[in-house]
Amino acid sequence: MPLYEYACHDCRKIVSVLARRIEGFEPRCPECGGSRLERLISRFAFHQSFQSKLEQLDPKYEKMVDASNPDLSFDSLVKKYRLDRPITKSDQ
Ligand SMILES: [Zn+2]
Repeated sequence: MPLYEYACHDCRKIVSVLARRIEGFEPRCPECGGSRLERLISRFAFHQSFQSKLEQLDPKYEKMVDASNPDLSFDSLVKKYRLDRPITKSDQ
């Protein structure tokens, strides 16, 4: 069974969810039970694409990345994937 990573908008954590099937699958956050999950690409793919981007960037940028903990803080993921946009409602 595939393991997917999601950003949970309820508890603001990155969680892994085991998907029994893809179609109609409605993930629940294993941490808080919330359903406001945003699918992320796998860490492996993330790092691969991230690495290729880095190679095209100024070397100074690499230091910034190191400082910002590449192991995926919630906020950096939200910014990277713009997760705050599709789910955001008028409550803020
Ligand atoms: Zn949660």
